[in-house]
Amino acid sequence: MSFPALVEPAAELTVDEVRRYSRHLIIPDVGMTGQKRLKNAKVLVIGAGGLGSPALMYLAAAGVGTLGIVEFDEVDESNLQRQIIHGQSDVGRPKAQSAKESVQEINPLVEVVVYEERLDNDNVLQVFEGWDLIVDGTDNFATRYMVNDAAYFLKIPYVWGSIYRFDGQASVFWPHAVDEDGTSADAPCYRCLYPEPPPPGMVPSCAEGGVLGVLCASIGSIQVNEAIKVLTGAGEPIVGKLMIYDALEMEYRKLKVRKDPNCALCGDNPTVTGLIDYESFCGAVSDEAADAAAGSTISVVQLEHMLKEREEGTRDFVLVDVREPNEYEINQIPGSVLIPKGEFLNGNALADLPSVDSGTQVVLHCKSGVRSAEALAVIKGAGYDDAVHVGGGVVAWVNQIDPSQPAY
Ligand SMILES: [Zn+2]
Repeated sequence: MSFPALVEPAAELTVDEVRRYSRHLIIPDVGMTGQKRLKNAKVLVIGAGGLGSPALMYLAAAGVGTLGIVEFDEVDESNLQRQIIHGQSDVGRPKAQSAKESVQEINPLVEVVVYEERLDNDNVLQVFEGWDLIVDGTDNFATRYMVNDAAYFLKIPYVWGSIYRFDGQASVFWPHAVDEDGTSADAPCYRCLYPEPPPPGMVPSCAEGGVLGVLCASIGSIQVNEAIKVLTGAGEPIVGKLMIYDALEMEYRKLKVRKDPNCALCGDNPTVTGLIDYESFCGAVSDEAADAAAGSTISVVQLEHMLKEREEGTRDFVLVDVREPNEYEINQIPGSVLIPKGEFLNGNALADLPSVDSGTQVVLHCKSGVRSAEALAVIKGAGYDDAVHVGGGVVAWVNQIDPSQPAY
């Protein structure tokens, strides 16, 4: 389905602009009018990270007149593998500033508005107000649901993307879209597609699971492609469609996504009529894991002490790292054995642990303490009453005990 252009054209293009955008101007579907619409367009990009990097760079090059950047983070060395809007000399600098400079280097005609803050319920509506279109490059579920709801309340369409390892997804969520005749397109929102966030701990973040750097370009460029179509009215944007990209198979699939009449936000009887508590909606850890970890969490300082006692022969316990083998290759807490979390969930891990009757304590850790809490819930259920997990995991170990090991 095609839609009327979202943005009215600017009055004119300057001689410089005609020269700069000439390869757009000679495409019939863009042309002078389309380029003038881009010039008049205000696009807000959330995140100057994996998806935000290519999105901002191509939106800038395309001549979108006003670009907003929402980003509170600083550039870290581990970002440079994929966040190509930043360079080596930007490490330690605010990402928003670094991104702004890159945008202005690509196209000085773009006006850049920077929001150097973390989006939350207190600021999201003010930040979104006045933008024509949003490009969502966030990497966590709490922010995604908040972006979806805030965009819905303000009737702003947004282009969503997500990436993990070799897999990417993208869609345009525009529940208020009307077709050329002015009738509702019955287009879905993100909640129509994903009514509930995944259980905490089920879907690892890119920081935990990794992401192929170039996948960001594949999905980020789809987002820009769709943004330009929505802004100019060209073609048929993926409203009500979900693009699924598998980089290993080099396969794109397009699925239809219908508006859900029971959607909590955009359905017939909405229950979400204002911003909600997104952190608790998405949960940092599951209830079972939180219960298991309560009173059974030790610090890395305590662990270091316990390891010394074990060395001296005054204490016996087994330290189990529940991360994945490739994470274990990067760094380790000395004296740990590897049994990935999946082995706990399928029950196989129990055979590798000292028996409950042996009296040997089991201590679990992962990268940050989420996965180990999930595994802890499993073994507590199997009778390991004195089992504990390490709060902050190997990240805390490297930060506080052994900075000589690489972080990731
Ligand atoms: Zn919906």
